[in-house]
Amino acid sequence: VTKKRRRRRFSEIEVIETLIHQGIEVPCFRCKVPFTREDVRTKNIQKEHLQELELEGADKPFNCRFSHRDAPCHHTVTNGTPATAAGSSKHRIAKANNATRIDKFVVNKRPLDEPRDRKPKFQTRTRDINAD
Ligand SMILES: [Zn+2]
Repeated sequence: VTKKRRRRRFSEIEVIETLIHQGIEVPCFRCKVPFTREDVRTKNIQKEHLQELELEGADKPFNCRFSHRDAPCHHTVTNGTPATAAGSSKHRIAKANNATRIDKFVVNKRPLDEPRDRKPKFQTRTRDINAD
């Protein structure tokens, strides 16, 4: 009895690992240092969105880059440095939320029989690309 083994689809980090095995250098978008198998092992690779999902950025390749998860790469972009959060994603998202806060006070009653939008309003911006 021969059991047919199905090819499974690789996760993003497995594709990067395969490229590393092929000798292809995939540099971190932030520091330009190529990812290593150690980065793969420690899951120190993360997909980031140039325009944050929370700020209507597309979840498509043209808007995504791979960078180190740890400081000073993607971590700093997301959280800012210990000295300042200015310019970080969290800062920009907070600013955007402030700008639209006034809208939340506008009364916008909709007819009870109007279908409600069931799409989730918020998505997590970054996921560990090796989550399984
Ligand atoms: Zn880096």
